[in-house]
Amino acid sequence: MDDAERIPIIVANWKMYKTLAETEQFIDNAVPLVAQAHARIYIAVPFTAIAAAAEQAADTPFVIGAQNMNDASEGAFTGEVAGKMLVDAGAKFVILGHSERRRIFGEDNAFINRKIKRAFEEGLQPLLCIGETLAEREARETEDVLATQLSECLKGFDTEELASLMIAYEPVWAIGTGRMATPEIAQETHYFCREYLAQQWGPETAGKIPLLYGGSVRPETAPSLVAQADIDGLLVGGASLDAASFASIVNSVSQPIGLDEKN
Ligand code: PEP
Repeated sequence: MDDAERIPIIVANWKMYKTLAETEQFIDNAVPLVAQAHARIYIAVPFTAIAAAAEQAADTPFVIGAQNMNDASEGAFTGEVAGKMLVDAGAKFVILGHSERRRIFGEDNAFINRKIKRAFEEGLQPLLCIGETLAEREARETEDVLATQLSECLKGFDTEELASLMIAYEPVWAIGTGRMATPEIAQETHYFCREYLAQQWGPETAGKIPLLYGGSVRPETAPSLVAQADIDGLLVGGASLDAASFASIVNSVSQPIGLDEKN
């Protein structure tokens, strides 16, 4: 993204982990550890922890969000959660289209597109996840898969909306497997996404959308990813569950306040 805006963005995805007590403990432990960090830090907590986490994080660098929502405003959808309920609970952003939602719960691009629309309507910042499976990469279909996901998930939005979106490239084969994409593969794929966004919506809009990498990021591998020209931040699953490990990732990619040269 544009150099002037290049403060790294680190997003924790806690998935279906952490009770209220564990959430409180994490925030207590992590806040002092990231006190000097020059990064935007987001935590996608389980639905049940949003309200408490948002309250506890109010005067901290942490922005609290959710991992999913329904596309309807409200209605007879047993077990679903609406965007306005997330806002009501204190969420500021929402992960949409995570590969676990696509694969396990059968979500398709059209549904994700409607969810993004609803998120914008409710004032939530969407974080769209895209990525190819191992079979698709091996069949050299990665670019087609990503182009289709981007075009179908982002259909119908104006450039102002798109500029407030975040996108995470998460190769499915790298999520939770310990098999991270090399920085070179991640950069090459991010570059493709950036160029695709520029072709569709213009370079200015493409330059404003943070492109995050996700998939088996660890403290020791984070800096080599964020050093890449088109990687603006990270989406972290497993390594975000422990406060020390997450803080170590944040600190490894962010410069102390006052010593900011990259941004
Ligand atoms: C994720 O679930 O978004 C993710 C990146 O997980 P992990 O870091 O555990 O691979």
